[in-house]
Amino acid sequence: MKRILFGQLVTMAEEPDAPPLENGELIIDGEKIMAINSTPSEKFSGETIDLSDSLILPGFINAHCHLSLSGLKGKIPQGLPFVDWIRRVVKENSALPFTERAKALQEAARLLAQSGVTTLVDYLSHPELLTEYARLPFRQVLLYEVLGFKKNSADEITQQAEALLAEHAGHHGKIQLGLSAHAPYSVSPQLFKKLHDLTEKYDCPWSCHLAEVAEEAEFLKTGEGPLRDLLEERGVWETSWQPPGQSPVAYLSDMGRLDQMQGVHLNTIDEADIRLLVDGIAGAVFCPGATRWFGRGRYMPVRKLLDAGIPVGLGTDSLASNEDLNFLREIRLAAAMLPDVSRAEILWMATVGGAMATGIDGGEVVPGGRADLLAFKLKYPGPPKPWWEIVFEQLGAGPDRVMVGGELG
Ligand SMILES: [Zn+2]
Repeated sequence: MKRILFGQLVTMAEEPDAPPLENGELIIDGEKIMAINSTPSEKFSGETIDLSDSLILPGFINAHCHLSLSGLKGKIPQGLPFVDWIRRVVKENSALPFTERAKALQEAARLLAQSGVTTLVDYLSHPELLTEYARLPFRQVLLYEVLGFKKNSADEITQQAEALLAEHAGHHGKIQLGLSAHAPYSVSPQLFKKLHDLTEKYDCPWSCHLAEVAEEAEFLKTGEGPLRDLLEERGVWETSWQPPGQSPVAYLSDMGRLDQMQGVHLNTIDEADIRLLVDGIAGAVFCPGATRWFGRGRYMPVRKLLDAGIPVGLGTDSLASNEDLNFLREIRLAAAMLPDVSRAEILWMATVGGAMATGIDGGEVVPGGRADLLAFKLKYPGPPKPWWEIVFEQLGAGPDRVMVGGELG
């Protein structure tokens, strides 16, 4: 058992702009928070960590990333049409030896950890990378990324995904496994159904890049366009597939596939889509750095989603479409790009919003929850400030201390 004496504590379990608790203690046993006391106990026999000069916040959750693409940093030019960007990513990535990919993954993860990320939600591209992920210093939700547009490939792909889930089921260490259906233009309706069934059987989170670009909307409306060309070029076009003539969100909704899904990007959605999302998805992930990198003129209407009661988290996406994976920079970018979302709400998105959007626990300081915490120094003397201003002022330098699973770094 250990305890942390705190100056201020933001639990994120209440409204984002709720005032912090002051001058109390957090009792921690192993990886878990046992109690939050408003006054420190007089007698405590365990270790005491004195952070009474600091504001304590739950650790950040990076709700969308592809760490395995970290070797592509600086290799993909900006400004390419989306489908050319995909072609370039596939080409450059396949030219990288495994050892370089693994090394870049470790380097990128270090920056994530330094910037206060204590939970990473990542698309796992190859099961052989699991040993690399196992070395990372934070909790991970790894969503095995599945693609397959040909109808008759669904069985085999599903068997591979299930073998991975079955092997790691019940493994409740640092890594939790789930699935990601890459996108509506790369996953067949048959495969979507089978993946959905698996998420129910294994009670695991799942995710999808959804309504990301105009080309995706065009493909689902008409069956034509650059994405059709790409599928044909790669030899995975399915001749029996008929375009649904719907938006990406309506397409998945009609198939019953939004259920508890984490929806990533949602750049091209409209009011009708939002009404469908309210009844379906676990939540949405906004990727500020990647959105800016691609120069998207239209992007996720975060204010509308939050007002509709849809949790929104923040993600870095990968180094194939972002300058770096500094999560503090993502928070600053989110604030700049979402002028109608408050700083308290942005920090809510960076913590508990990311957990809710993924359908996992975390992002809050609550008894029974994981002791994943950040400490930011309270700079006295000076006039009292709202807690979010204290955090935003120190985003440049980052948190002073990071605790992952009860271990202070
Ligand atoms: Zn992505």
